[in-house]
Amino acid sequence: RAKEAGGSAYRFFESEMDLRLQERRRLERDLRHAVNNDQLELHYQPLVDCAHLTVTGCEALLRWHHPERGPISPCTFIPLAEECGLIMQLGEWVLRTACRETASWPDDKIVAVNLSPIQFRQSDLADQILGILAETGLAPHRLELEITEGVLIEDTERVLATLKALKAHGIRISLDDFGTGYSSLSYLHRFPFDKIKIDRSFIWAMEENSDSMSIVRAVIALGRSLRITVTAEGVETPTQLAWLQAEDCDQAQGYLLGKPMSRADIATLWANAQGRAQAELPLIQVKA
Ligand code: C2E
Ligand code: MG
Ligand code: MG
Ligand code: MG
Repeated sequence: RAKEAGGSAYRFFESEMDLRLQERRRLERDLRHAVNNDQLELHYQPLVDCAHLTVTGCEALLRWHHPERGPISPCTFIPLAEECGLIMQLGEWVLRTACRETASWPDDKIVAVNLSPIQFRQSDLADQILGILAETGLAPHRLELEITEGVLIEDTERVLATLKALKAHGIRISLDDFGTGYSSLSYLHRFPFDKIKIDRSFIWAMEENSDSMSIVRAVIALGRSLRITVTAEGVETPTQLAWLQAEDCDQAQGYLLGKPMSRADIATLWANAQGRAQAELPLIQVKA
């Protein structure tokens, strides 16, 4: 009897697997279609200077509005694109679109683009990026590339050579989600990072957990002594921001300072700041 029950549980499990596999294939097919038919869009989230609360630029974040299912999170479809190899094409689309859209922003504003570790498997990644800059007319110093600690599982020599080639042209390199991966201090000096982004989990835990606060403080100090810009991710409360300002953190990003916005809303943000050197945030009063 037990055997029987086990058998049907197994069959149930099997059909569940089938469903999930089918579901994945469908999503994969739809994503491929979306890439080829311009159903994707970039949103932009402000990167803010902590001391002056001015917007130095934005991070480009990919958005997919599925025609039947509505918005699908990049946390769902980026891993899928990585598994099925579509990430190369997707990544190139993101780079080209971000550079083209940013080229018309005020020329002191930068754009940060996320790169998947898988994209580094292309031996011509640096040439691809330099080609896109030439084609769109975006100055290299206005592009920042965000990579995660996941690049370490890739061929480090190749990654290093690619990053150095890009840096030689003035492109900046940023280490995203710092503290969540195989954090090792050894690659902070091996890799030519210009920026460290402290993962939002540390920022969120700061208020209740003094250990998190110590870690954030230590990373800020580390950044300062290595002359690497430090950005705090996921800043949601005035208390978090005030503390980061008191600790002299360079930059902050988060819903408190600005959610990811459409290209049109970013254009409005720049237009409202016309005549001033930098765009100030609608939330500027948090400074007082
Ligand atoms: P990420 O690069 O760490 O981007 C920051 C994520 O945190 C974004 O989620 C952003 O919307 C969210 N966020 C920012 N501030 C706050 C806050 O105050 N509170 C909360 N709760 N969330 C906040 P999003 O857009 O869903 O993207 C998730 C991840 O997907 C990104 O994490 C990145 O790893 C990946 N991703 C997004 N776009 C791209 C892309 O074009 N290429 C690649 N390779 N990955 C991408
Ligand atoms: Mg990022
Ligand atoms: Mg991040
Ligand atoms: Mg993160």
